[in-house]
Amino acid sequence: MHYLDANASEPLRPEAKAAIAAALDIVGNPSSVHGPGRGARRVLEDARAAIAGRFGVHDKDVVFVSGGTEADAAAIHAFGPGRRIIVGATEHDAIRAAAPGATILPVDKAGVADLGWLRVTLADGQPSLVCLMLANNETGVLQPVVEAAALCRAHGALLHVDAVQAAGRMDVDVRALGCHSLAVSAHKMGGPPGIGAWLLAPDAPEPAPLIAGGGQERGRRGGTHALPAIAGFAAVIGLRADQSRLAALRDRIEAATGAIVPGREAPRLANTTCLALEGVRADAQVIALDLAGFAVSAGAACSSGKVRESHVLQAMGLGAQAGQAIRVSLPWNVTEAAVDGFIAAYIRMSETLRVRSNRLLQAVSP
Ligand code: PLP
Repeated sequence: MHYLDANASEPLRPEAKAAIAAALDIVGNPSSVHGPGRGARRVLEDARAAIAGRFGVHDKDVVFVSGGTEADAAAIHAFGPGRRIIVGATEHDAIRAAAPGATILPVDKAGVADLGWLRVTLADGQPSLVCLMLANNETGVLQPVVEAAALCRAHGALLHVDAVQAAGRMDVDVRALGCHSLAVSAHKMGGPPGIGAWLLAPDAPEPAPLIAGGGQERGRRGGTHALPAIAGFAAVIGLRADQSRLAALRDRIEAATGAIVPGREAPRLANTTCLALEGVRADAQVIALDLAGFAVSAGAACSSGKVRESHVLQAMGLGAQAGQAIRVSLPWNVTEAAVDGFIAAYIRMSETLRVRSNRLLQAVSP
């Protein structure tokens, strides 16, 4: 089986596995004052410093959370009350579900946020929280976050950035981006699942915790620290696959399959491509490719495994094709052989399924 679904979860890197195994032997809770507790605390604080340094925040402003979903929910919980919430049209459900009824920031055909709209909307001076992702999970399209941050700051709005797909694949620095808070998740970087960080800029308002608990993380997130997971997270900080190699493999897929590629004209992550096949449902494509030995995903599979039409592709103006696109996301350890095998399987699959769906259409047409 060839795994081409890195945006769901990157394969665990050996560095993370080794760090997790070592940390499993640590006795003690980092919150305890005795010797073993202080030893555990040192591992925790070293991990925090590595993560802070990589993402351009102060150590004290790294809040360990369970992953991207929690970091996004924490930001909206902390900064949303009393503010209008503006959410990019292609945001992940981690944001959308945490902000029901939010005002939607539209995107253009390439999937890029309409900053003209944002400028006009923020000009009314209403206190606002804007949520804009750095890289889209389905298309890889990058958002103009630096420009959005400048607009937000000029109008006194707060900006939260979901950098879950970008972290580990491009430079992500809170200071350089100019945002107030940012979400990252270890399992999208080759670290373990179940751990992530919510990173706060020095001028972010002091957040009310989503989970208060025992006051860990300076009272910003309660709960005993998941030290092995945190150590595994820190172990992948600074590791990055050769992005030009991934981009070349992605381009090879796009050229050889001849598929429609929503978002192709925008700046994108190197590892991600979205391939739409006219007239063939995304779930049928995923199943056929799975049977052929290639793990990819439908753009918008939810946790039940059901496939809906992708809200991302709909926001980009695609009609029926919003339900006919698969996502191929290359992991850090992808091989050329896997990519070439995928191309061959895709071409076979598209011929077979197209013929079948044409037959079906002929059978039902009057
Ligand atoms: N944000 C984006 C853009 C994602 O792609 C994902 C996961 O797919 C999440 C948030 C949720 O992250 P986690 O799985 O760590 O909760």
